[in-house]
Amino acid sequence: KESNARENNVAKIRVVVRKRPLNKKELSRKEEDIVTVSDNALTVHEPKLKVDLTAYVEKHEFCFDAVLDERVTNDEVYRVTVEPIIPTIFQRTKATCFAYGQTGSGKTFTMQPLPLRAAEDLVRLLHQPVYHNQRFKLWLSYFEIYGGKLFDLLGERKKLCMREDGRQQVCIVGLQEFEVSDVQIVKEYIEKGNAARSTGSTGANEESSRSHAILQLAIKKHIEVKESFRRNNDGNESRGKVIGKISFIDLAGSERGADTTDNDRQTRIEGAEINKSLLALKECIRALDNDQIHIPFRGSKLTEVLRDSFVGNSKTVMISCISPNVGSCEHTLNTLRYADRVK
Ligand code: ADP
Ligand code: MG
Repeated sequence: KESNARENNVAKIRVVVRKRPLNKKELSRKEEDIVTVSDNALTVHEPKLKVDLTAYVEKHEFCFDAVLDERVTNDEVYRVTVEPIIPTIFQRTKATCFAYGQTGSGKTFTMQPLPLRAAEDLVRLLHQPVYHNQRFKLWLSYFEIYGGKLFDLLGERKKLCMREDGRQQVCIVGLQEFEVSDVQIVKEYIEKGNAARSTGSTGANEESSRSHAILQLAIKKHIEVKESFRRNNDGNESRGKVIGKISFIDLAGSERGADTTDNDRQTRIEGAEINKSLLALKECIRALDNDQIHIPFRGSKLTEVLRDSFVGNSKTVMISCISPNVGSCEHTLNTLRYADRVK
């Protein structure tokens, strides 16, 4: 009883900011670090010029559920963001953990280790007799949204489509899902999926910054094959009934949403799609926060895919990643304003 109460006390929506250290290039250019952190608050010191060209600094202050400075390790990030949610997944929670921020701000660096750590904890809990006896199992899938289309990162980048069943459950037709019983296998799937992420001729970070990568870990209650065929034949849930799940989302670079005036047509289309999805995401989280009955998930492919995570018992953690250098000031302020509206 007591532990139940504690688990349910995890806030429905949390917004955490992570500041990365200055990198070698920024240090070699002697760029200034303009972000100071104290407890759960941070200040951006924006250099400005008056009309008479005298310099001054405008301070922007923000407060979040937690602010992690450049000394914080990935392990601590896990403890603050995902760990508290893990037990709730066994109690029918659909959780989502997003990394938001401009390209180069540390989204992938932050997100990469989280599913593996989560899988470690989930596998450990699965071995407890109470769950083991109920035949709970862990399942993994990994896909990407690129230009508004879905691609299976663990299934030869096959293009996937989405369908809604009669009970308004979303189902991604043909998405490969794998039962994973130990952490080493989880690691292998993650690496395989990472290698399949969009990487064009321009280089990995350039292309992957235009896509959302979604890794899902689901706890399912095993049901016998014969019975499951009677229940549904869409293939997706045929080997188990979803108890709860957690989705890890490495979002497209937030600055890409502004690529709507680029000379290249494809870039413009992708930019518009990214802009739409990041706006829709913000609106959905705000609606969740206000306990609105109507969640505007139809605004984009990203939010449609996450539809079942926006209803019922849901938990959302947004990790906003920021670069500390003066050259990123405008993007940093945009990221913090976005995070501020979500919280
Ligand atoms: P994004 O995914 O947002 O484009 P990355 O995660 O690829 O950004 O990070 C850009 C670079 O900065 C990478 O080389 C990464 O290793 C490094 N980096 C990001 N965050 C940190 C951090 N907290 N500590 C050390 N290095 C980091
Ligand atoms: Mg990245």
